[in-house]
Amino acid sequence: MEMLTIAIAKGRIEKDLLCILKEIGLGASIDPKSRKLVFIDSDVQIKYIFVKPVDVVTYVEKGVADIGVVGKDVIVEQEGNIYELLDLNIAKCHFAVAGPPLTQIYNPNKRLRVATKYVNIANKFFEDRQQIETIFLNGSVELAPLIGLSDVIVDLVETGNTLRANGLEELEFILESSARVVSNRVSYQFKFEEINKFVEALREWRNNNDQNPTAK
Ligand code: AMP
Repeated sequence: MEMLTIAIAKGRIEKDLLCILKEIGLGASIDPKSRKLVFIDSDVQIKYIFVKPVDVVTYVEKGVADIGVVGKDVIVEQEGNIYELLDLNIAKCHFAVAGPPLTQIYNPNKRLRVATKYVNIANKFFEDRQQIETIFLNGSVELAPLIGLSDVIVDLVETGNTLRANGLEELEFILESSARVVSNRVSYQFKFEEINKFVEALREWRNNNDQNPTAK
């Protein structure tokens, strides 16, 4: 049996995923309280590496990880050359255009200023709809329209609490996001058996714990 390396996005996905791994009898070596970034379940030949969400696609695309678990938001933004194998239906949220209430988004005579961490997603959404200028920000994007840096934002919304707390509202829905299992293209061929076993265990968990088992 070949060692399978799995890159896990730290943060929102991590906690839920560790519970799932436990439920399906994996991840025995993982100590969530430790600062270690690498853990090995030697009995089943699985190595887990914990990386920043934005780096998961890079690790998988370069083949240093065979599999990754990361949000659809990151996958769409990075457009990596990887396979998407499974929707885990956890860490659900969606992308939206948001701004002060009644903001006019569409105006053929004006470029809309859009603050976002997700420049590709914003550009793709507005491509045929409205001329925009994107302003890249790493975080606290909600601040931008409040202080006049942008007209609107493109960001992830989970409960909508952050928008409401800052006097903003959702103006346009863009795209759903949730955690996905992705794979390196070469690994998928050469470690198919190992990858398939892992993915099918997760799929079974997903189908048993899901209100929407028709997802991919
Ligand atoms: P909420 O207030 O629950 O709507 O969450 C919105 C805030 O959390 C925004 O600042 C988002 O950037 C961030 N956020 C929501 N969901 C996610 C997610 N799945 N991954 C990363 N950030 C998220």
